Amino acid sequence: NPYTQTRFQVSAAEPRQAPPDRGREVAFAGRSNAGKSSALNAITGQKALARTSKTPGRTQLLNFFQVNDAARLVDLPGYGYAKVGGATRARWQQSLAAYLEQRRSLAGLILLMDIRHPLTDYDHQLLEWARAAGLAVHVLLTKADKLKRGAAKTALLQVRRQLEAEGLPATVQLFSALKKEGLEEVWAVLDAWLER
Ligand code: GDP
Repeated sequence: NPYTQTRFQVSAAEPRQAPPDRGREVAFAGRSNAGKSSALNAITGQKALARTSKTPGRTQLLNFFQVNDAARLVDLPGYGYAKVGGATRARWQQSLAAYLEQRRSLAGLILLMDIRHPLTDYDHQLLEWARAAGLAVHVLLTKADKLKRGAAKTALLQVRRQLEAEGLPATVQLFSALKKEGLEEVWAVLDAWLER
């Protein structure tokens, strides 16, 4: 695993609290319960790396993890389920859209979707923002172990086809944190985006 050196760096409630906009970073987004924490832990070979993002009462916008001096992973908490009012949520959405639009070191977005419930409204919102920002997107269809092999492959093809039909450019792969499936593929995407 080439990402075991990854360490928690800082939480930012607003984009201006983020680390300096230098080097490269890759952001991870997904609806609450999509399997984002499990995926981040599997990708970095750590048991509890992403737990910081879930600490109750912590409604941070961005959590930064340092891979090395020049590379970061960024966890974007799923605002859709946060127990906050509409005005707060709207502000978050604005901040998140601004981050995706303005962050120069941001090289790509990894979007996680439960393979059994892909392409929700949340996912479409992120995909639209990424397109507007000219940001590359790689989709992980998570918990692939929940489906039989054939059904998982069918789901993969369907998501690819639908993204294409909607004119939303993205690459898509199967992923299972439980079975450690799809790690090589996602590491290759991260390596390319982070220029490692
Ligand atoms: P998050 O809210 O997106 O960070 O999601 P979590 O990583 O906390 O996972 C949500 C739930 O899905 C938990 O009950 C996990 O155990 C489960 N889960 C996550 N990844 C997998 C997986 O690859 N396979 C299976 N079967 N369950 C998973």
